Amino acid sequence: MTVQELTHFIGGEKVSGKSGRFGDVYNPATGEVIAKVPFASRDEVKEAIDAAEAAFPAWRDLSVARRANVLMNFRNLMMENKTKLAEVICQESGKTMDDAEGEIMRGLESVDLAIGAPQLVKGEYSVNVGGNINAYSARYPLGVVTAIAPFNFPIMVPLAQTSMAVAVGNAVILKASEKVPMTALFISELWKEAGLPDGIWTVVNGDKTAVDELLENPKVHAISFVGSTPVAKIIYEVGSKHGKRVSAFGGGKNNMVVMPDADLEQVANSFVSAGYGAASQRCMAISTLVAVGEGTADRLLPLIKEKVEALKVGPASENSDYGAVISQQAKDTILAAIDKGEAEGAELVVDGRKAPITTEGKGFFIGPTLFDNVKPGMYIHENEIFGPVRNIVRTKDLNEAIQIINDHELGNGVTIFTNNGYAARQFTTEIEVGMVGVNVPIPIPVGYYNFAGFKASRFGDGHMFGPDQARFFTKTKTISERWLKESDDKEMSFAFPSN
Ligand code: NAD
Repeated sequence: MTVQELTHFIGGEKVSGKSGRFGDVYNPATGEVIAKVPFASRDEVKEAIDAAEAAFPAWRDLSVARRANVLMNFRNLMMENKTKLAEVICQESGKTMDDAEGEIMRGLESVDLAIGAPQLVKGEYSVNVGGNINAYSARYPLGVVTAIAPFNFPIMVPLAQTSMAVAVGNAVILKASEKVPMTALFISELWKEAGLPDGIWTVVNGDKTAVDELLENPKVHAISFVGSTPVAKIIYEVGSKHGKRVSAFGGGKNNMVVMPDADLEQVANSFVSAGYGAASQRCMAISTLVAVGEGTADRLLPLIKEKVEALKVGPASENSDYGAVISQQAKDTILAAIDKGEAEGAELVVDGRKAPITTEGKGFFIGPTLFDNVKPGMYIHENEIFGPVRNIVRTKDLNEAIQIINDHELGNGVTIFTNNGYAARQFTTEIEVGMVGVNVPIPIPVGYYNFAGFKASRFGDGHMFGPDQARFFTKTKTISERWLKESDDKEMSFAFPSN
């Protein structure tokens, strides 16, 4: 098999890496290296930033409708190329085809919202705020902005981070995940074909070195980061120190609270699909089922166990329920978490290490694992396990469930399953988590609502998706304007201007 050498995408062109450093891109379903991705040096990133800065003024000065037109073309091209794009995503991420296609459609929600950017960046206007003075506020793009993306949604997250930034007139640099760079390069060609001027969309590939330049270069004005919590925290701290606007999204440890009155068949199906889908490599995956009240877990467990044991794990081509995890390193970390769970006394109900996986040892597959009687303080409770290891926690009542969730460091998503409206209302009011579901397994908001976790799931105050993106990627100028007649009083005054 030939291993292709990938490029960057700078100034509207594919540009070969010059640093001499490369990373391996794997097909997680076979374990084979399929490409070499260049790791940019700081000088290469500087050149990309300069090209973006040079392209920015003309894009800023284009009418908002013309910019929106480019996004519409891009959307159409994405739909025309949907199958090809989904294949690229599957190849480098190990996802199943329907999961990849779902991700594309959710990503397009961000493009759809951005097409409506003219409506979102409208300003305010007041007449006669002082003698002959009108005042208005208007939103202006920031200039060069950057998105640093994770591996687990090769298309949806980069589109959520960048579509609005492009639409409101910025020049955008995407630092794609070095594990899934082919998807970002694929859509770069679509942006070009859609009519986006060269330099407005850039992909620099690389690792920490490339990110360091983006964080420190004074020509970069905003950073949208999505990835793990420890890195999100560093990005927020370093980016802010260098005077940039930063929104940094981290990991999740998401709970599904089940009240005794819930429909248990619905709960079991929702938990298994939201817990194990995409090999649990979703920041909004359900990690933990919190069964409330005497007997709830005992009634649920047989239903869930049967469904978990029946999950089909394998490559996209085999109609699998979920595919491989991203790398051998990720697989080793996940297997080590199972060992820790056992050692700390959680009850192993389904052991993924023993699951029958028919890929002759090839690929980074892990069978589904389920622990019962997991307690706060255990490693598998406190840490995000980015793979198919899920927990059941038992609590005596809803208050205890809320307390356990609120005490956790992470607060990305959460959901409650119940038919009791009062319990649902108490839960949505008291829970300290950013995205909350009621009888919805994965409460990821639709693209026109803001998305953000609480606590260590987010640093900075920006949101992803939603109208807040238009605010994050623009700065407000407030302009007070006076035009005097020849005959008007033009005397000097030292009093502070007042009305
Ligand atoms: P990661 O933090 O390892 O990497 C994310 C990006 O940061 C990549 O582009 C990577 O190259 C870069 N990076 C990694 N280490 C760095 C460092 N020391 N300095 C500078 N840059 C660095 O995350 P990942 O493994 O790619 O993605 C999975 C994580 O992302 C999970 O924790 C998941 O929950 C989280 N995630 C969160 C959301 C959300 O919206 N909150 C969405 C998707 C994924």
